[in-house]
Amino acid sequence: MNYYIPNYITKNIFELDYEKLLHSGIKGILIDIDNTLVPMHTIHPTKQSIDWAIRMEKLGLMVCILSNAKHIRADLFKKELGVKGVGMAFKPMKKGYVKAMEILQLQVSECVMIGDQLLTDIKGGNKVGMMTILCEVLDKKEHWFVRLKRVIEKIIVGSLLEKVKRI
Ligand SMILES: [Mg+2]
Repeated sequence: MNYYIPNYITKNIFELDYEKLLHSGIKGILIDIDNTLVPMHTIHPTKQSIDWAIRMEKLGLMVCILSNAKHIRADLFKKELGVKGVGMAFKPMKKGYVKAMEILQLQVSECVMIGDQLLTDIKGGNKVGMMTILCEVLDKKEHWFVRLKRVIEKIIVGSLLEKVKRI
């Protein structure tokens, strides 16, 4: 299996069909922060992301932030959104994903990883055998380092992404 190919692609986390996820047995969401939950460099959760967290709770979906950002940033989002979280996750290493599943007390088949980067979010999720959803970036003005990663992503996956179903 190609670890860089997500199960689904979505425009953003706000328009995703969560009923569909619930029907497929998903109970927990592992979520990236930057360019997934909020645009890059957003210090506090946006109103949109707070509303999203409330909606997830109402739907009965548990949320755990899984971020490579420093603990201080992950903890702030965790607190202000009222969700669980793992900072300095070192995605795509498996360790953070395993920790998140332990926190949520869920099995791998009950979790989905949602993020904007193939090399970290998606690769790690696929490595642990979890459902993965790639979302388009919220902020197109990315850091040069992230833009470089996009070029690498393109080289790795080529046209394979075009075949991935949208959700
Ligand atoms: Mg990101």
